[in-house]
Amino acid sequence: MGKATGFMEYKREVPKERPPKERINDWLEFKNKFSEKAAKIQGARCMECGIPFCHSGLDIGGMVSGCPVNNLIPEWNDLIYKGKWEEAVKRLLKTNNFPEFTGRVCPAPCEGSCTVGLNDPAVTIKANEYQIIEKAFAEGWIQPEPPEKRTGKSAAVVGSGPAGLAAADQLNKLGHKVTVYERQDRIGGLLVYGIPNMKLDKKKVLKRRLKIMEAEGIEFITETEIGKDLSLAELQGGFDAVVLTGGATKARDLEVPGREADGVHFAVDYLKANTKHILGDQNEDYISAQDKDVIVIGGGDTGTDCVATAIRQGAKSVNQFEIMPKSPSERQPDNPWPEWSKTLKVDYGQEEAIELFGSDPREFLIMTEEILTEEAEGQKIVSGVKTVKINWERNDENRFVPIEQPGTEKIWSADLILIAMGFLGPEETIIEKAGLEQDQRSNIDAEYGDFKTNIDGVFAAGDMRRGQSLIVNAIDEGRKAAAEIDQYLS
Ligand SMILES: Cc1cc2nc3c(=O)[nH]c(=O)nc-3n(C[C@H](O)[C@H](O)[C@H](O)COP(=O)(O)OP(=O)(O)OC[C@H]3O[C@@H](n4cnc5c(N)ncnc54)[C@H](O)[C@@H]3O)c2cc1C
Ligand code: SF4
Repeated sequence: MGKATGFMEYKREVPKERPPKERINDWLEFKNKFSEKAAKIQGARCMECGIPFCHSGLDIGGMVSGCPVNNLIPEWNDLIYKGKWEEAVKRLLKTNNFPEFTGRVCPAPCEGSCTVGLNDPAVTIKANEYQIIEKAFAEGWIQPEPPEKRTGKSAAVVGSGPAGLAAADQLNKLGHKVTVYERQDRIGGLLVYGIPNMKLDKKKVLKRRLKIMEAEGIEFITETEIGKDLSLAELQGGFDAVVLTGGATKARDLEVPGREADGVHFAVDYLKANTKHILGDQNEDYISAQDKDVIVIGGGDTGTDCVATAIRQGAKSVNQFEIMPKSPSERQPDNPWPEWSKTLKVDYGQEEAIELFGSDPREFLIMTEEILTEEAEGQKIVSGVKTVKINWERNDENRFVPIEQPGTEKIWSADLILIAMGFLGPEETIIEKAGLEQDQRSNIDAEYGDFKTNIDGVFAAGDMRRGQSLIVNAIDEGRKAAAEIDQYLS
């Protein structure tokens, strides 16, 4: 342990973000790095617990607690404190293929279970991770390292999100020949066409990693959908093993009158089109919020990404609806440490809306009853939304159900409605065509641990196996599935 009393002497400090008023004028990342001195101090706050919960990656009450890839957090915190950056990055890369992604966008379940967090604000684990990997890139320590020997075996990865990329990286490092198939025109899954550029820069951060992977021998094939352009059987014919990492991209729809009107879009379609646009594509599907009253239906992180995107596009107003109640500002007795802390977050999109419009854009306990429309040039276009406030009450079967509060109906003006109500599971083309078995939640049926589907030599990992989740879980599954595939190939 570097500094025995560090956690008592130093306060938690995180790197200052770019101020909302400045950052809403561009699409650049808003997070900054620490100075090296500040990182050292924050590293010194780690107590190096005998049993560190932060790197345990446990499932408690259906929620992740600690780091799912089991990052060796106390070890690298100590190395930062001692200024041994090169050793710190070696430790970090032992468990995480892409700390530059998680260091930017992971919600950091590690920090929820940090022991310092019992009495004080947790150690800045995520910011430390970001600092280590960015220093390593800046120093030129991250260079392509192709495997010394090839095994003569090959694997196909279907889908290029974090699960597919982690599986590809691991399999390639083991010497297998890896080809990644992606149906989109760019590699990255939701890293490219979900998470907005201001959280994860596509050119500087994602492309930097993909270039290294290519130089290490991984082949990327875009605009090829398995199950449509190529069958799974054809793929099996050409490779010794296949891993399916196609994500859980089937969006939950809003079933209310007026849904079919022009101006109502799924969040990911909107975010994807915007990313294409800022990357320089002349895409006809681009949706602009400029001078529009925007309503985002869904109070989660995807909804927040829509709020921040609409603000940058120049929206006239932005409101965000959440059907659940507002979370408490502090941990409740039924949500103790080291569980994931279910407290109210004011995320970047809300911060920006507060700065620009003067209030938090979120409305809690609200339900959309109808999308109001008007006719323009023979088309039905969105003109507003009718909502009602609700309470959650138990019904006769003891299940919580939303109960409308009489007299709380409200009409909101709207020109653009974005549906960010979560995801229902993987799309079914490949599943149906190849005869893959599904679990009760419609994900591909494969046990965590062996990742085997009902078809010999075909594995599944990431959101396609577990449902929409987190980057860090996808990386974990990709790594572990690769280890199973390696055993299968050997
Ligand atoms: C808008 C948004 C923001 C998010 N923000 C965060 C965040 O800040 N932090 C975080 O931790 N998590 C975030 N998530 C969740 C996270 O992005 C996902 O859990 C993660 O990307 C899942 O990784 P994956 O590799 O399993 O699938 P995906 O990233 O979904 O990638 C799957 C890829 O497979 C491709 N594909 C599918 N079927 C086929 C086929 N048949 N043939 C070829 N290709 C195919 C798809 O086109 C896609 O590119 C966010 C999710 C969304 C929607
Ligand atoms: S990957 Fe996420 S959970 Fe793991 S150490 Fe980094 S921020 Fe924490």
